[in-house]
Amino acid sequence: MKCKNTVIVRSPKEILMSNGRTRVSGICSENKCDGKLSKIIS
Ligand SMILES: [Zn+2]
Repeated sequence: MKCKNTVIVRSPKEILMSNGRTRVSGICSENKCDGKLSKIIS
């Protein structure tokens, strides 16, 4: 499941993508939601 809210990410993980950009992925910190979040940060 994927979360579409903009929330604080629990246990964020930085992933370097093959195109050289960095993505953070983690789990939504909201109650009753354990959707996955991923965001490109650079
Ligand atoms: Zn969520």
